[in-house]
Amino acid sequence: MIDIRLENATLTYLGDSQPIFTNLSVQFTAGNWTALLGPSGCGKSTLLRYLAGLLSEKVNFTASKQAPPINELADNVAYMAQQDLLMPWLTVIDNVCLATRLNGLPVDAATKTRAMALLEQVGLDSKANVPPNELSGGQKQRVALARTLMQDKPIVLMDEPFSALDAVTRHKLQNLAAALLRDKTVLLITHDPQEALRLGEQILVMNGKPAQLNKITPPKSAIPRDIDSEFATIQQSILEHLGGHS
Ligand code: ADP
Ligand code: MG
Repeated sequence: MIDIRLENATLTYLGDSQPIFTNLSVQFTAGNWTALLGPSGCGKSTLLRYLAGLLSEKVNFTASKQAPPINELADNVAYMAQQDLLMPWLTVIDNVCLATRLNGLPVDAATKTRAMALLEQVGLDSKANVPPNELSGGQKQRVALARTLMQDKPIVLMDEPFSALDAVTRHKLQNLAAALLRDKTVLLITHDPQEALRLGEQILVMNGKPAQLNKITPPKSAIPRDIDSEFATIQQSILEHLGGHS
């Protein structure tokens, strides 16, 4: 596994005059979790989608240095979004096998066995053969997590994956994701400073037009972190970086 690095990156949507970001430099260390915060519309999803190779035809992108090259990067990425769309007409296990199917590979017995093992890890093996509409919001996101793991990529990009969940479910899923994605390079977009503090080994706040990245020093303990008194101080500093001075 290798680090992801951008130096002096500029991204502009085709047809726009203003770049979303310019002179942006950032490193995502292999095997580490980065939490990315920032006000709505500042460009978080754009950065993530660019790294996932989803914007190549929609943007102008330049950088003085980019490693690995975008094609190689995109091949190594699994992407999980907020309302992760499970196909309503497929069973839970077939949703977990969706990437295999979309890649034109057969969903054979070995694939199903692996999917079942992953469903067991997220505690949903008993739901393998039901449609997604029989699941709660938290259970659906656990299926989406299993589907992400099924892709078995070293880099996992997550765009507000837990934000639609209630506090208790979110806390449980943060712990589960931290355990299951321990060895991955993870970039997690969140609007929740507490989530960033629980899961971020690097914490970045994106802000401004064009957007910049500010580093917040995370607590030293290992993730997932328990909420402690140190959180309150750092959370305050995150809120200030987000623009909540008043
Ligand atoms: P965030 O995820 O931080 O809320 P986004 O990356 O979604 O922000 O959006 C950043 C800016 O880029 C917004 O002004 C948005 O309107 C614009 N934008 C997003 N997607 C596109 C697109 N496909 N074409 C043009 N502009 C876009
Ligand atoms: Mg977004």
